[in-house]
Amino acid sequence: MAQKKVSAEKRTLKKKPAPRKTKSPARKHAALTPVELAAERRRMVEIVKILKREYPEARCSLTYCNAFELLIATILSAQCTDERVNKTTPALFKRLSTPQAMSQAPLAEIEKLIQSTGFYKNKAKALKECSRAIVELYGGEVPAEQEKLTGLRGVGRKTANVVLGNVFEIPGIVVDTHVGRLARRMGFTRHLDPVKVEYELMEIVVREDWTQSNHLMIEHGRQVCTARRAFCERCALSRFCPKIGV
Ligand code: SF4
Repeated sequence: MAQKKVSAEKRTLKKKPAPRKTKSPARKHAALTPVELAAERRRMVEIVKILKREYPEARCSLTYCNAFELLIATILSAQCTDERVNKTTPALFKRLSTPQAMSQAPLAEIEKLIQSTGFYKNKAKALKECSRAIVELYGGEVPAEQEKLTGLRGVGRKTANVVLGNVFEIPGIVVDTHVGRLARRMGFTRHLDPVKVEYELMEIVVREDWTQSNHLMIEHGRQVCTARRAFCERCALSRFCPKIGV
């Protein structure tokens, strides 16, 4: 999930400002006629069908045993690879396995345990603060609501949707660097802002496929439609893709 630019997700590692209403942004699809919109939805159905065939094992690549562990792992994955996070979390969860333990641990100890994931000072504060809020506001249980999750320090829409989709089976679109790039190349959005891309994909992807479509697009972005090069000549989606900007 590494990105060159400082992402919205990373910015949420800092102390939360006063809550701000997220307006549904101006969308490409708002300009489409109902017939065109239906055609785009059908195109996405075909794409998801092919990706399911190509990557039957696609799933969340972060290692976790429960909602708290996935929440923490996803916060750590900002500006860091999932592989690096998976090497870091076993020692972290062995020592601090619950929101109670994490909230009471000295900041310096958390920093040391997560140092290799980068931006560790901000991430340690986020881990401690969000754990404290889970204990104080939600009785030590990770809430299963987006609004409550995004109220936690270090938790943006992307992290909230990862937890909701993978643990609580509440569908959510997660726009990381791969999903954003593929959505643009496939002509489903022109936006760079992950939240705007999320809104556009929500209109196009069938709701029950929201969570799985994330894993499928991430896998395709790692294997075929990579950041460095789009391998269109061996891409199973070629027939359905306008190959924007490649
Ligand atoms: S056809 Fe090319 S641009 Fe489109 S998804 Fe495949 S690799 Fe990416």
